Amino acid sequence: MSAPASAASTAAVDVAAPAVALRGVSVAYGDTVALADCSFEVRRGETLALLGPSGSGKSTALKAIAGFENVVGGTVEIGGRDVTGLSPAARGTGFVMQQYALFPHMSVRANVSFGLKAQKVARAQIKPRVDEVLRMVGMFGFADRLPRELSGGQQQRVAIARALAPSPSLLLLDEPLSALDTRLREEMLIELQQLRRDLPGIAIVHVTHDQAEALALADRIAIMRNSRLEAIDTADRLFHQPPSEFAATFLGGADILPARATAPVVAGGVGTFEHGGLHLRAVSATALAGDKHVALAVRPWAWELSEQPRDNAVQVLVHDSQWRGAVRHVRARVAATDQFIGVDVPVLDAAPESGRQMWAHVAPEHVHVVPAEKSA
Ligand code: ADP
Repeated sequence: MSAPASAASTAAVDVAAPAVALRGVSVAYGDTVALADCSFEVRRGETLALLGPSGSGKSTALKAIAGFENVVGGTVEIGGRDVTGLSPAARGTGFVMQQYALFPHMSVRANVSFGLKAQKVARAQIKPRVDEVLRMVGMFGFADRLPRELSGGQQQRVAIARALAPSPSLLLLDEPLSALDTRLREEMLIELQQLRRDLPGIAIVHVTHDQAEALALADRIAIMRNSRLEAIDTADRLFHQPPSEFAATFLGGADILPARATAPVVAGGVGTFEHGGLHLRAVSATALAGDKHVALAVRPWAWELSEQPRDNAVQVLVHDSQWRGAVRHVRARVAATDQFIGVDVPVLDAAPESGRQMWAHVAPEHVHVVPAEKSA
C-alpha cells in the first residue's frame, strides 16, 4: 500500500514498540473520574476490543488515545513516542465514530480526501489513494454522491475509508456498528474482518458494548467496568477461563452461584463445591484451599433442564421464559437458595411451564470457578 507523506506518518516510529500504550492514564471531568489509572498495550497488527457496559470508560480511553481528552495522569504512547501533550492531528490515528460524522455538503470523494489535503499530500497522490480506500470498503462507485444520498451502512463505510486514507498505523473505532440495524451490522462485521486481513500491519482499538462484536473481531479483549480496566486477555482465554464474576457475566452472560470448596482442589482439577446445601463439581483453573469461598459462573447454554434428577444438577423452579429466536431463555430459581439462573432451551423443545420443578444439569468443565466478589 502506498503511504502518502504526512507529518504524522513520517514521524520516527519505533517498529518494535507497541502500536499504542496507555500507562496509568486517568481522565476526569470536574469530580467525575471517567478513566482511572488505565494501562494496556496494543501491538502492531493486533485488534483490541474495549468491551463494557455504558458509562464504563471505553470511549474515554479511546479518546485519550486519539487526543480528544484531557489526560490528568499517566502517559499515552503511539509507536513508542509519548504523545500525551500532542493534538489529535499530530498523533496520526484514524478515528471512526458511532455517528459517521461525514461533512454533509461534501461528496464522498471530498470527505475521504479531507485528511490527505489537510496533511498537504501532493494532489497527484490523492486521487489514487482515495480510489484505493474506497475500493477497500466497497464504495468506489459512490465517490460523487453526497452523504445524504447514502444509507447508514454506506456512510459508515465512507467514514472508515476517510479514517484509513492517510494510512494510519492505528485505527480507533468508537461503536462503529451500533447505529446500524442487525442485518447490516452482521454484514459490516464481515467487512471489518476482511479489512483486517487487507491491512495486516494496522493496530485497531475497537470500542463496543456488544460481546458478539468483540469476540468476532478482537485478538484480545479489555473488559471495562466503573472507569477501570477489569481484565485484559485473549478473547479465547477470557471467554473460557473468565478471571472474575464480572468478566464471566459480561462476556457470555453467566449467572453466579456463591459457593464454598468442600475440600482442597489442585490447579486444573475437579473440585466439589457447596451452594446452599447442594453440591456441584467444577474444574478450577487455580489451586484452592478447602472451605474457600468462591463464585461458580455458568453460562445459560451450559445448563440442561430435565424432569428427573441428574448427576451434577441443582433442583430449580421455572420462573418465566422468553423466546429469543433459536432458543427460549428460561429463568429458573434454585430451589434451595432462591438464586436465579438463566437456561437456554432449544426452541424446538417444549417450553417449560412456569412453576414447574425441574433439574438443571451442567458438565463440570462448564462451571467456571472465579473469586467471590463479596467476600473478597
Ligand atoms: P462508555 O464509553 O463506556 O459508555 P464513557 O467513557 O463515555 O463510557 O464515560 C465514562 C464515565 O465518564 C461515565 O461515568 C460518564 O458519565 C463520564 N463522562 C463521560 N464524558 C463526560 C463529560 N463530557 N462530562 C462529564 N462526565 C463524562
